[in-house]
Amino acid sequence: MKFYDAHNHLQDDRFAGGQSELLAACEKVGIARMVVNGTRESDWPVVRALARENKIVLPSFGCHPWYLAKRTPDWLKNLEKFLDEIPSAVGEIGLDRWKPDLPYAGQEDAFLAQLRIAAERNLSVSIHCLQAWGRMLELLQKNLRPARGFVLHSFGGPVAMIPAFAQLGAYFSFPGYFLHERKLRQREAFRHVPADRLLIETDAPDQLLPTEKILQPLAGAGGQPLNHPANLPAVYAGLAEFFGEKTESLALRVEENFQRVFKLH
Ligand SMILES: [Zn+2]
Repeated sequence: MKFYDAHNHLQDDRFAGGQSELLAACEKVGIARMVVNGTRESDWPVVRALARENKIVLPSFGCHPWYLAKRTPDWLKNLEKFLDEIPSAVGEIGLDRWKPDLPYAGQEDAFLAQLRIAAERNLSVSIHCLQAWGRMLELLQKNLRPARGFVLHSFGGPVAMIPAFAQLGAYFSFPGYFLHERKLRQREAFRHVPADRLLIETDAPDQLLPTEKILQPLAGAGGQPLNHPANLPAVYAGLAEFFGEKTESLALRVEENFQRVFKLH
């Protein structure tokens, strides 16, 4: 069985330079590819280096709403430079009205500027959205989108909006965090995702699985628990169990979807 991680942050500082061991563990459990999402200009070179050294890594470059304040004046030119240099995707970008004290002003402009670049180049784009689903749908309806589609990572939006997003080309990515008992609403929503639009992710080092499902425990330098990207097979197994299907059949579906939306030229 081959596994595909639609969204993680392997470049994250919390992994403290342990990327080679993490990747070795991922390959050992059958992870074929992972989309490693940059979140700010300062981590794009790290993502690029990881991709150059490891075929498993599909690089993605974007400015995440949490880090917009750190942008340089040349950030968009810089983004295009990275996209020109290496076959890649755009992300993580998005809208966030959930994070306390994070200004919303300016988020839409930054999101749309990056969405436009993804649409012009027909690159897949990974979208973060927290408490802004109505506005996200409106913006996607009114603006150019990549013809190949786009990914709503850790989709936690309303079930009722799934068909409208799907019509625009959305893929819906399921994180291991939704395997927690209390995340039943989010899990249930995935029963309504079209079969050809389902993806699976770890979002490592974030979005830890329930303790009993963790395959690869990992702690950061300060002892804080981190999500190891090699926990991906447990996310597949947990979702397959929830759907009442075999992990093998789920994995085949997700493989086709991943290849379709992330295919690099
Ligand atoms: Zn992320």
